[in-house]
Formats: sequence, C-alpha cells, structure tokens
Amino acid sequence: MILDGKKTAENLMKKVAEEVASINEVITLTLILVGNDPASLVYVTNKQKACTDAGINVDSHFLEENATQKEVLKIIEEANNNDKVHGILVQLPLPSHLDEEVIINSIHPLKDIDGLTLTNQGKLFTGLDGLHPATPKGIMTLLQKYFIEISGKNVVVVGRSKLVGKPIAMLMLQKNATVTIAHSRTQNLKEVTKKADILVVAVGKPDFITADMVKKDAVVVDVGINKVEGKLVGDVKYAEVKEVASYITPVPKGVGPMTIASLLENIVQSYRMLKKQQ
Ligand code: NDP
Repeated sequence: MILDGKKTAENLMKKVAEEVASINEVITLTLILVGNDPASLVYVTNKQKACTDAGINVDSHFLEENATQKEVLKIIEEANNNDKVHGILVQLPLPSHLDEEVIINSIHPLKDIDGLTLTNQGKLFTGLDGLHPATPKGIMTLLQKYFIEISGKNVVVVGRSKLVGKPIAMLMLQKNATVTIAHSRTQNLKEVTKKADILVVAVGKPDFITADMVKKDAVVVDVGINKVEGKLVGDVKYAEVKEVASYITPVPKGVGPMTIASLLENIVQSYRMLKKQQ
C-alpha cells in the first residue's frame, strides 16, 4: 500500500492555513539563500510558495555566492530581534567559505524552524519539547496517519545525517522502537536492513535498496531525492520493493510534500512558543 505523502500533506497544509487565518497577526518567515545552486533554488521557491499559500509572509534574502559571514549573521541578528519575525530558515548547503555551524547556531532557538541549532538538537536528544527537523517530523506524521505501530518494532535507518538520519532515529526511539542506524561503514548492510520492520532510507543514491534487502511486509520510507535522466527517483528501487513491502512511500509524492507541510507546522509552532514567552 502506498503511503500517500501528497494527500496527507495537502490536508495538513489546509489545517495550517486555517490556523494561520485564525491568528490575528501576520506570521513571518525570514528565508536566507546564499548563492545560486539550482537544487537549493527549487527548494526555496517551493517553501516560499507553500508559505504564501498558507497565508504566511516570507521575507526573502537572496545573497550573492560571495556574501560574507558578517552579512549573513547581520540578517539573522535583525530577524532574531524583530518581534514580527517568527521563523528563520537558512537554506543549506552554504558556500564553503561560510561557517555553517556558526551561522545556524546564531539563530534564536525559538525561531529555528529547521530544528538544527544545538539547543533544538539537544532537546530532541533528551526528549524535551522543541522544534524538530521537518523531514523526520513529516515521516512520523505520515506513519501516524496510517496507524503504523512503532512501539517494539525494529527500525533500521540507513543514513546518519543531522537533518534526517539521526533525528528520525531519535524520534523512533522516543516512540519505543528498537533502532539501528546504518551508514557507509556498516558491514553486511543487507543483513541489517532485512531485520527492519520499518526501514527508513536517507542515503542519496538512486535505487540503492533492492527487494532482496527488505523483509516481507516491512514498512519502507524512502527519503532520497535523486535526479536520473531528468526524472526524480528515490533511494529505493520502487517497482520491485513495493511487491515485498506492506507500505511504501513513493518518490515523488511521499516524504517531500510531508517535509514542506511539517515546515509550515514548525513556523506556527514557533509563533505559539514565542507568544507564550512574551
Ligand atoms: P547526506 O549525504 O548528508 O547523508 C547520506 C548518508 O548516507 C550518510 O550518513 C552516509 O554515510 C550514508 N551512506 C552513503 N553511502 C552509503 C552506503 N553505501 N551504505 C550505507 N549508507 C551510506 O544526505 P541527507 O541525509 O541530507 O539526504 C539523504 C537523501 O535524502 C538525499 O537524496 C537528499 O536529497 C534527500 N532528502 C530529501 C528530503 C525530502 O524532503 N524528501 C529532505 C532532505 C534530504 P556516512 O555518514 O558514513 O557518510
């Protein structure tokens, strides 16, 4: 069965739009893009559109490739201090001359809608309320919508990035799964993935997971977005794995739309948390 991220995300976005409309104040996201990486430009445009559709105001800063650290930090500082800004997003990756850690950690934790500051990563690790990265948050919401049991299940996450692999592992652990994180140094990967009741794949290699690596009736979540001959494909060899899996996310229309919807949820969550503080 297909885990329909597109439909689920549309419903979520409708709910967010209703919530935004019920708030008697303009919610604003400050969005920063440095350089002109084509993939980043597509992601940023999608995020801008989703915000606008939901009634969220976007204050965009498109900087030249050679923008300085100081320039980026200044925009963040102004947004941190501006009560009318409720979320700040710096599109990654940044050009190599900029220090990503310093830039991300200069964002006020309550406005950090990507959940990447050390504060929010720490909260996720310790199970405290905070802002969680949108992709893992979206995956958890999608599984919940389809009533997929997580407690006690063997979850295998392939990939250990701080944006996807590590946070999804933490969220699964919080839901009482038994979690294994695999990566490029994992030996006998197939033996590991075969044990998964729920397999989450975030590697960035087209058709990386084949049917022989998947246990019968496993739930398969494909995070990958790869372009092959102009078409988007995931990390999972969809046509054959769908015959083995009980549930599977397609690419596109799976995790991607859930990520955008969860990002909108995070902006509203930021707004609510900031209001509580005032
Ligand atoms: P990263 O490149 O940061 O991480 C990739 C991970 O895969 C690493 O941990 C790496 O291991 C692991 N890996 C690489 N090769 C192998 C291998 N042969 N066997 C096992 N593990 C391996 O990627 P991201 O997590 O940022 O993204 C992963 C994919 O998800 C990409 O295609 C990206 O475009 C997509 N993505 C999709 C989103 C969505 O909304 N749908 C959002 C974010 C990302 P090691 O650490 O050892 O190097």
